[in-house]
Amino acid sequence: MTTHATQAAQAVTLPASLEEAVAALTAMPAAVPVAGGTDLMAAVNSGHLRPAGLVGLGRISEIRGWQYQDGHALLGAGLTHARMGRPDFAALIPALAAASRAAGPPQIRNAGTLGGNIVTAAPTGDSLPVLAALEATLVVAGPGGQRDIPVSHLLAGRAMLEPGELIAFVRAPLLHAPQVFFKATGRTGPGRATASVALVLDPARRAVRCAVGAIAQMPLRPLEAEAWIASLVDWDGERRLAPEACEAFGEYVAAACIPDPPRPDDGGEAPALAPGVLHLRRTVAALARRALGRALS
Ligand SMILES: Cc1cc2nc3c(=O)[nH]c(=O)nc-3n(C[C@H](O)[C@H](O)[C@H](O)COP(=O)(O)OP(=O)(O)OC[C@H]3O[C@@H](n4cnc5c(N)ncnc54)[C@H](O)[C@@H]3O)c2cc1C
Repeated sequence: MTTHATQAAQAVTLPASLEEAVAALTAMPAAVPVAGGTDLMAAVNSGHLRPAGLVGLGRISEIRGWQYQDGHALLGAGLTHARMGRPDFAALIPALAAASRAAGPPQIRNAGTLGGNIVTAAPTGDSLPVLAALEATLVVAGPGGQRDIPVSHLLAGRAMLEPGELIAFVRAPLLHAPQVFFKATGRTGPGRATASVALVLDPARRAVRCAVGAIAQMPLRPLEAEAWIASLVDWDGERRLAPEACEAFGEYVAAACIPDPPRPDDGGEAPALAPGVLHLRRTVAALARRALGRALS
């Protein structure tokens, strides 16, 4: 179905399937997809974006739910934060549910989607550190069929969506183990993250995976800290760690993501971190320590 918005030259297409959406985008390369519109319409309203056409994704039922596939969940890109925050979803991917519950006020969570969160790729996107820690894969639909992209490649700009392509699904592993998402904001109540930490346990691979959000353009993975703490966990036993180990993990994560300034060439003392940066590092350390403690409790 095609209607014409009141603004001249703005065609709005409302496809009912992924195939139709890809066809619409291919037919009008200057058109952009819109899901919940919480990011896109803000850009339009502020005058930053004047798309020649819109392809609305809201009627495509195949991307609004999830299905199971080889030990993974295939999450529709049109899943709203509100839907992912519900208990049945939280039983599958607890960290993504926790991030969705923290993603803005209720009216935003009712409209905003997983796919929109990924494509906007704001540093404060709450789903992004979770997807990084899960090592999720994007399933992209386009004129040539479907292809997979690791989510980290899209966020790092190593892979781009081609003309006519859409994010159709996100493939996330079902780990059947504790997962945590914690977010710090600059104020009480809903707000954008100043720092966030997603942490997942992967008992099958004897791994702890952690990603820190909001402090850089894309989520950061402190790989050495992950490997170190995973080596201390008794995977066949109680999986508990002493508080000192959790504390050290927090410091390790924070120092890896917010390193000390380099030493000067003359070998003198490294300059101190600026107070704001030091505060951010302490926040990351506290979030990572608490996330690990919660996951192992
Ligand atoms: C007041 C307010 C508070 C917010 N607070 C938070 C917060 O706390 N945490 C947070 O993470 N976010 C927050 N957001 C941001 C926003 O709600 C999320 O990023 C949301 O997930 C975007 O989804 P959407 O469906 O609304 O995307 P849209 O606005 O519809 O689209 C965003 C971008 O993604 C593209 N797109 C959408 N779906 C697809 C797809 N399937 N394939 C390809 N491209 C696609 C669009 O073309 C556009 O470029 C907030 C926004 C507002 C306005």
